[in-house]
Amino acid sequence: MNHSILKDLLYQDFSSITNENLEKCKRRWSRSLGDMPKNSDILAAYKQLVVNKLVEANPQFESLITTRKIRTLSGVAPFAVMMKPYFCPGQCTYCVLEPGMPKSYMSDEPAAARAKMLQFDPKQQVLRRIEQMEKTGHKPEKLQIIVIGGTFSAYPDTYKKEFLLAIFTACNNSKQISPTQTIQEVQHTNESAKHRIIGMSIETRPDWVTDQEIRLLREYGVTKVQLGVQALDNTINRLTKRGHTVDAVRTATQKLRDAGFKINYHFMPNLPGSNPKKDVAMCKQMFSDTDFRPDTLKIYPCIVIPRTALWAQWRQGKYHSYDDHTLADVLVQCVQHVPYYCRIDRLVRDITRQWTASGTKKTNMRQIVDRLMQQQNIVAKDIRAREVRNRRAVHPGVILTTKRYKANKAWEYFISFEDSDYLYGMIRLRLPQQPNPMTKVFPVLHGAALVRELQVFGKQVGISSTSTNEHSNSKRPTQHQSLGKQLVHAAEAVARSHGYEHMAIISGVGVRQYYRNLGYELKDTYMVKRL
Ligand code: SF4
Repeated sequence: MNHSILKDLLYQDFSSITNENLEKCKRRWSRSLGDMPKNSDILAAYKQLVVNKLVEANPQFESLITTRKIRTLSGVAPFAVMMKPYFCPGQCTYCVLEPGMPKSYMSDEPAAARAKMLQFDPKQQVLRRIEQMEKTGHKPEKLQIIVIGGTFSAYPDTYKKEFLLAIFTACNNSKQISPTQTIQEVQHTNESAKHRIIGMSIETRPDWVTDQEIRLLREYGVTKVQLGVQALDNTINRLTKRGHTVDAVRTATQKLRDAGFKINYHFMPNLPGSNPKKDVAMCKQMFSDTDFRPDTLKIYPCIVIPRTALWAQWRQGKYHSYDDHTLADVLVQCVQHVPYYCRIDRLVRDITRQWTASGTKKTNMRQIVDRLMQQQNIVAKDIRAREVRNRRAVHPGVILTTKRYKANKAWEYFISFEDSDYLYGMIRLRLPQQPNPMTKVFPVLHGAALVRELQVFGKQVGISSTSTNEHSNSKRPTQHQSLGKQLVHAAEAVARSHGYEHMAIISGVGVRQYYRNLGYELKDTYMVKRL
């Protein structure tokens, strides 16, 4: 890319660039450049023009050129960091094992490709990703780290600890990991670092969720657990050699909820032994049965991947994938049963054609499902469908709403700021049964109500910025308008009215200071306040 030519082209067109004609401009410029310019190149050229005082800084243009705006529109910058290849205790018949990769991952998925290139070095993965996000105009200051690779709990404890130490060290901009440094020390530094880890998730199997493992997860700073559930049916579990029962899902969900974790389920329609009706019934049961009710959901329809046990069955005619029409119909029916308190994080896994022997090859299945729902006048109720992103600033119609539902033998409160169209922020409050069974692992939870999640939606605002000096009232983002503080106070009022003596918040390390400002103190990995 000839940056000097790009700078000239941008300078000529700068005043007339709009959302509508940006792509047209890029195509025109590509004729002089010999290649289509990336948004990161355009952003770099723009910054030079500003430094050289050839154009004035223009936040609207910056926002326009910021690629993949969606990434930070939920208020946080999420990114995946992959663990090294290691054994997984599972024998699942559909699971891929690519040499040199952790089980279930393929080297051409973006995060996996980056991890492989960097020899699965966690520090390098974090630094590269931060650099990449900054280059494309994002502010990776509130990080949601997603640890991926096989089954987290099955890795040796020493490796898990080293891996997480390295992630925190990279976010703290420390040059080296000191051999004497503890996880508590790097977490303490991260509380005031530029790149704060405000949430961390890991992936594991329900049968590996033990009290001891939960204790370790809290020490590592984990706030969310992604459980490989796949099916709520023991026959399907047996046919797919899943290696655990539905009861293991119930037990794991109960323990994680009582310890305050946010819970994600992976659900896989079209498994052997299932059919469209059964898939929809399992999805319904996930929310009608109070033992489940996950906070977020990933729906990954089964795909036949070459050289798996399922592939052999498919070649013998013993397994059939749904056609795209049937699959879309199943997904539409599943989505409509997902209630207001759950977020559908993913619908269909992005697997390239070369890995798909059978199963959908549509990369736009989510759009197909959205279109079908529109045609059938079905409105999705899940969080993702309602979160405000950059669609509207807070306006006077927003009200504080409190809803409650039973989950794992206790009441959960979903307190939110919303209007008739959008969701601006929400807090998940749990009033656990007393005594909370998890006090045997965390005595600090005795007599405590739990905040499992607090989130304000909308474009991420940098940690140091304020809403008043950066934005006019009409465009003021939803973050930093004290919605979070009001939600915490509302949750405290509900807990107090039910006789709870304390509030314990499962806080990401990078949010601890925020809660300190609200009167909380760090006790045994939770932020705790006497009510
Ligand atoms: S538990 Fe997960 S990673 Fe392990 S074999 Fe089963 S699907 Fe694959």
